[in-house]
Amino acid sequence: MKKDDCIFCKLANGEIPTNTIYEDNDFRVFLDAAPATKGHCLIVPKEHFDNLESLDENIASGVMPLAKKMMKLLKEKLNWDGFNIVQNNGEVAGQTVFHFHTHLIPRYKGDGQDLVMKPCGLSDDDIKGVLKEIVS
Ligand code: 5GP
Ligand code: ZN
Repeated sequence: MKKDDCIFCKLANGEIPTNTIYEDNDFRVFLDAAPATKGHCLIVPKEHFDNLESLDENIASGVMPLAKKMMKLLKEKLNWDGFNIVQNNGEVAGQTVFHFHTHLIPRYKGDGQDLVMKPCGLSDDDIKGVLKEIVS
């Protein structure tokens, strides 16, 4: 299903032109309009899902194999030194476009990007408490 007012539905389905590097029945992969690095692109399903929570299982199972394929292509063409895969869910997590997508971000020595997480300061006891909350 497409969503009428969704920009990524239009981009993924070719209603609005994109800088596409790959397309199949389920996905389009195109260059991000505000790239974090050279070759930063987005894997976007052609069907609309707000985020990973609502993503169809079959589509979900296609994302990582496609990411791996695109990593290989980008290695051959752009010769990255490292690679980040980022997938934001919810506003608080940095999602700004509410159509599921996965960022592929080639990294280069000295590229000046900073996608590194900082520890939030939980103690070992705190972590045990969290474990109890999750698995009990
Ligand atoms: P999010 O913050 O939701 O994880 O990522 C949304 C991404 O989509 C951002 O990196 C932003 O630059 C990109 N983006 C937003 N609108 C457009 C657009 O119209 N075209 C393209 N190619 N990228 C877009
Ligand atoms: Zn959409």
